[in-house]
Amino acid sequence: MLKKPSAKTKKFIELAEKYGAHNYHPLPVVISKARGVWVWDPDGNKYMDMLSSYSAISQGHVHPKIVAAVKSQLSKVTLTSRAFHNDQIGLFLKKAVELCGMEVALPMNTGAEAVETALKMARKWGYKKKGVPDGKAEIIACENNFHGRTTMIVGFSSDAQYRDGFGPFTPGFKLIPFGDLDALRNAITDNTVAFLVEPIQAEAGILMPPEGYLKGVRKLCREKNVLFLCDEIQTGLARTGKMFAWQHEGEEAKPDAIILGKALGGGVIPVSLVVSRWDIMDVFHPGDHGSTFGGNPLACAAGIAAIDVLVKEKLTAASAKMGQYFMKQIRSLNSKHVKEVRGRGLLIGVEVKPESGKARLFCEALMQNGILCKETHESVIRFAPPLVIKKQEIDWAVARVAEVLCA
Ligand SMILES: *Cc1c(COP(=O)(O)O)cnc(C)c1O
Repeated sequence: MLKKPSAKTKKFIELAEKYGAHNYHPLPVVISKARGVWVWDPDGNKYMDMLSSYSAISQGHVHPKIVAAVKSQLSKVTLTSRAFHNDQIGLFLKKAVELCGMEVALPMNTGAEAVETALKMARKWGYKKKGVPDGKAEIIACENNFHGRTTMIVGFSSDAQYRDGFGPFTPGFKLIPFGDLDALRNAITDNTVAFLVEPIQAEAGILMPPEGYLKGVRKLCREKNVLFLCDEIQTGLARTGKMFAWQHEGEEAKPDAIILGKALGGGVIPVSLVVSRWDIMDVFHPGDHGSTFGGNPLACAAGIAAIDVLVKEKLTAASAKMGQYFMKQIRSLNSKHVKEVRGRGLLIGVEVKPESGKARLFCEALMQNGILCKETHESVIRFAPPLVIKKQEIDWAVARVAEVLCA
């Protein structure tokens, strides 16, 4: 049973429920302060953040270097629009492009906007470079995908709730099973311009593709002159123990475009990018596409600091090592409720058995035990702490997870 929230907590929740649309179902906890892997409620109770805002807080809450960079930029200039140049955008894009081993990037704000940008880029590339007849471009995506919530994107979701009530949808999308190369081969036609895929399906429940899948995708897309668009918004930037999740399969799996968001803004400001090559991105001409806030100097300053922290604090190696340790510790609990523990780096899914009840109930019990997690779909508890988490903090967490999973 859930303990009753305190009067303070109750007041904040009631306000939000009264004046805010009910498009979320948050756990009944209010966060009013945060540092590193820890957050506090208004009564001073401390919790460990095991969600990291869906991996947007990889560098840890209120990272001093990121906050300092943003504060410094705040006192100079925050927004110029793209009608003028600013002195941060070039520095940021150079850093991001080099990190990705690419050539050019287009900045937006949210993840969904960057996905939309990649889809527009792919369609225009299809018409102008591949020679697809006007209006015929096809894009292939996967069942159980999650790429954001705009109307174009939910139009090719396979989740009934994401679509229900929001049609009519944009045509030109085809869905195939995730991890199935034959399905991809069969789905590609002369009009296919791109294949959009997450290297690990995170929202779907941390679903991993079979070994060699992305390499196979790369090869097939090259053979058929189809763009390989990799949505690394959640899996990228060290989350899975490599800087980008496609790198688990080596250079032979390198996509044509990488879509980034979430941790790119260091948990401070929304920053997203499509990072690609000039032979693709050069389809965009002045006026084709844009965003008032995309590439603003405040966001770029945050992005520079966010990448610097990932690299200088070696968070890729930390994620690999701590993720392995964390997963081993959870497995060794041998909980009768757990069907499978899977993941890479610090993106870990614990699937509970149907007879043990819904994952939401476990998340509520974990919350009362000082651990903030969120279920994904009905049966998976996701553990994705900030990548700065220390071994002792994992031990602290595992002891509390044990109390819930081994009850
Ligand atoms: C979160 C997410 C998005 C959408 O990002 P927003 O910033 O919420 O629009 C897209 N793709 C993946 C894989 C994500 O995890």
